[in-house]
Parts: sequence; structure tokens; C-alpha cells
Amino acid sequence: MRFSKLISKTQKEIPADADTASHQFMIRAGMIRQLSAGVYSYLPLALRSIKKIENIIRDEMDKAGGQEVTLPVLQPKELWDKSGRGEAFGKILFSVLDRKERELVLGPTHEEVMADLAGYFVKSYRDLPVMLYQIQTKFRDEPRPRGGLIRVREFTMKDLYSFDLDEKGLDDSYQRMRQAYQNIYRRTGLPVIMIEADSGAIGGKDSSEFMAINDCGEDVIIYCEKCGYAANSEKAKSIKLPGFAARPEPMEEVHTPDQKTIEEVASFLSVKPVRTLKAVFYYADGEIVFVAIRGDIEVNEIKLKNLLKVNELRLATNEEVEGAHLVAGSASPVGLKGIKIIVDEAIKNGTNYVAGANKQDYHIKNVNFPRDFTADIVADISLAMAGDVCIECGTTLKSVRGIEVGHIFKLGTALAEKMGAYYTDAKGNTKPIVMGSYGIGVGRLLASVAEASHDEKGFIWPLSIAPYEVYLCPLFLENERVAQAAERLYDELTECGIEVLFDDRDDSPGVKFNDADLLGIPLRVTISPKTLDKDSVELKWRAEKNSELVAVSDIVAKLKELVLTARNNA
Ligand SMILES: [Zn+2]
Repeated sequence: MRFSKLISKTQKEIPADADTASHQFMIRAGMIRQLSAGVYSYLPLALRSIKKIENIIRDEMDKAGGQEVTLPVLQPKELWDKSGRGEAFGKILFSVLDRKERELVLGPTHEEVMADLAGYFVKSYRDLPVMLYQIQTKFRDEPRPRGGLIRVREFTMKDLYSFDLDEKGLDDSYQRMRQAYQNIYRRTGLPVIMIEADSGAIGGKDSSEFMAINDCGEDVIIYCEKCGYAANSEKAKSIKLPGFAARPEPMEEVHTPDQKTIEEVASFLSVKPVRTLKAVFYYADGEIVFVAIRGDIEVNEIKLKNLLKVNELRLATNEEVEGAHLVAGSASPVGLKGIKIIVDEAIKNGTNYVAGANKQDYHIKNVNFPRDFTADIVADISLAMAGDVCIECGTTLKSVRGIEVGHIFKLGTALAEKMGAYYTDAKGNTKPIVMGSYGIGVGRLLASVAEASHDEKGFIWPLSIAPYEVYLCPLFLENERVAQAAERLYDELTECGIEVLFDDRDDSPGVKFNDADLLGIPLRVTISPKTLDKDSVELKWRAEKNSELVAVSDIVAKLKELVLTARNNA
């Protein structure tokens, strides 16, 4: 490809709305262009890398026994009513009305359609196990699209679904996918760790996430250095350090003028947040619930949502809190009636808390549970944090941020039962098909590799997914010798199947080297009057500092060897 013919141009300016390296470089390299929030056009350089990633994924899915299909993006809403997952997905679902006013969903995932398909084709135990997958566009109306291709509303996803006779079969399929996923990350050059995850709206029991460790990730991973325990903070279990312990004292009301937040009250009364009770109000499927948790701990909304078994859970608005006759800023479980009270279990390991008094500008000291208030539910609803204690081995836990680059689920039989996907076993009994679901976002994988592999100048693509393998960089093209040598080398390399981006632009060496670094093509070949004086060209890996001179007569063979070796290892 001749650089001068590329539709996209590189730019120096850092886009104002791009806060991650992958986003900035992708815009500056002319790989992507935003059409609307979280909706991007892939330009040639991006599409080439995306196709390479898709082919690696396809190869691994085929090797693991998957059969490729393409299912419709437009899905009848009835399928989602049948599975009951429409409400769990909530506003994430894009839906449209057709001319007959029938509601259709733009597929955010394809469990329903796949189960429907399997229910039709799978009749007997002889038809199982089977794995179906597709690489296709998905739609999710994310509330906060961000980070370029990291979180978008329209994206390409590989989703595979396994259909098995029983749990044992599902375990085998799950293992096989785990291995296939690890192969995919290795081949695309992305280091990942596998952690326990929450199943969320997809449903099911076990699920694991593959995480690329990165500061710009939205997920927090809680992990133990000693025993290797690692889980998404949404799911992580931990032991909270005990709170203040002393003999329970009698309750005492104190005047706390204008002190509302935990920090304000704690500082005003000279106690640590661990000795305070925080009141948090949630709107849970139409009901206002009261959550009491230690002042130093955050509520894990996923745990709370799972506990309450509701579809919509969010912080209550001020109007809703006042509507329930509660005093925000001074609310207390003490003496409270007519509202569901949920108490985080860490409260049990402490005494003499400071809590609200349910009247403006007053708090109560020496509140003790369960002496002074009762709970409808006592449960672990706390967010695990670095500093908590590992439940497996007692070591202090650490935390790190990560980007979720893959998520696999054991769905079991619940969805198959709802969708009517059954088979007949050897004895003639009707049984539900046991399902699993396995997803990878292709664009996010590309962005995650970029996050993991770049420097201040630009991308450092692994050869397996780079848009091109060689950046042919002639300097001073007005020099006839340079122009001829470059054209000849371009033809010869292209002839033997090496992917070359030929910088045939009439630009200065500085501009060309900067663009070469920005685009991050793994191998750069520079031709200049100086190198030709020595009958040579200069060869440099993007990832390395040093370069070497290679004889003009040897360069094709040398590049062929380097590229083929790298391709074979990928
Ligand atoms: Zn541990």
C-alpha cells in the first residue's frame, strides 16, 4: 500500500476528548473516526488489524470444535420476553419498531437466538455436544461510552455458545474455551489474567473474566499475592478488618450542626470512619430500601442487586428519600419503621458506632447492633478493597485496575428451559440442553493490545496483528537512486507476500520517522543516499532502539525470514 493513497491522514494534535493512549493514537494514526458517542468507523489501518484478530479468533474457535454461523442482528422482542432477560438488560437494549409496530431488539448478545436455533436442530443425545459461534456486530446502549474502542455502543464480538448433555459436558466445553481464549491472547500479544467474575445480566452460575492489567481499565481486580486468589471487585469476597471493639455504652444524642457526610461527622466528633454507620438509600424496583454499612466501606451494588433479586437498582434521589420521610445526612436505622433495612455484616464486628438521629443536625453516639436497631437482612454487601484480608489464606489483599477482554459463562439449563431447547436422552427422557456462552470484543482487544504495547511516540504492534508488517521508508525521494531502489524493493516484497506500507510521500525524514513510530509497524526499512552509498538499507524493529545496515542484495531474504518466523510463532 502506498501511504500517499491512504484515505486517512496522520495528525499531530492530541484529540481533546481522548484520555487513553490507545484512543489518542488511533485518532492520530487515522485508524478510527467517531460518528457519534461510542460509534466508530474503522478506517483501513484499523480494519486490517481487526481482520487479523478475527482470523486468530476464528482459527482457535474452529480448532476447539466450533462451527461458524451468522445470526440476525434484528431479534424479535418476544424472544427476550420468553427468556425474561429483557428487564435485566434494561436500557442497555436498543429496540426498534417495524412498520407493523412490532418491537425488535438490536442484539446485544445472542443466547436467545442460539437457544432457539439449538432447540430446533438438536433432537436427541446423538446431536450433542455442539458449539456454534459467530463474529458479528452487537449493540449495547452503554450509559458512558469511553476510551475510543474500549467501551462502545456498536462493536464486533465473537460469541460462541456450547450445548451439552450434562454438567460434565459443560465443564469440558468450558475448559476447552478457556484454553482457546488463552491461545488467542498469546497470539495477539496481550498478557491477561483469568479471574472470578459476576454473571450480571447474562445469568448463570460460574463465570470467569480475562483481564488485561491496565490503569485505564474500568474494572478493579482484588487479588492475593500469596495464594493467587483473584476476582473482580464486583464479585470478590474478603474479610473486613474488625471495627472498634469495647463494652457497649448507652446511646447518647449529640448536636452536629451542618455535619452531613461521614467525613464531616467523623472529623467533628473525632472518631475514625470505621466507627460510624453510613446510611445509603436505594431505589430497588420501585421500593426505597435503607442500607446501613460501616463508614469506611462502600456498598457493592452488584452484591446488593443479587441479594434483593431486583432488575433495577440505583441510588435513590433526594426527592425519593424525603418522600419516604427520611432525613438525608442524618438518617439512622435506630427507631426506623416501615422501610426495609439491610445491614452489612461487617457491622457485627464493632461497637459504639456513631449513627444519624433521624433529625436535622443531630447524631447518636454508642449505637450498637442488634441492641439498638434491627435488620430485615444481614448480609455481605461490601465492596472488597485493597487492605481487606484474603478469605483463602488470611493475607492482606491488593488491588489493580484491568480491562475486561473476555468473559465466559456457564449458563446451565435455565435459559434452555425457558427457550424450549430440549433433547431426548438414550432412555427416551426429555432433558434441557446444558449451555455455556463465551464472548470476546474484537475492537476492545485491539485497543487493549495498544494500551499494553506503546511508548510516548505511538503503537508498538505485535507482528501478528499489525496493520502492515514492514514500513518502507525512503528518504529524499527526489534522489533518483533512492526512488528506484524503493520502488524495486516495494515490488519485490509485495511479490513474496510481505505486507508493506510504502511511505512514498514527499515529506521530510522527521515527518516520516514520526509517522513510522506513531503507526507502530513492527519493521522499518529506511533507504537514503547515505545507505545506498554503502549498497545497504537500514533495518529497525519498532520495539528496539538500535538499527542495522543490511546489504540491498540481502534485504528481501532477510525480511522474508523475519516475517515468516514471526508468523509461524503466532
Ligand atoms: Zn490468599
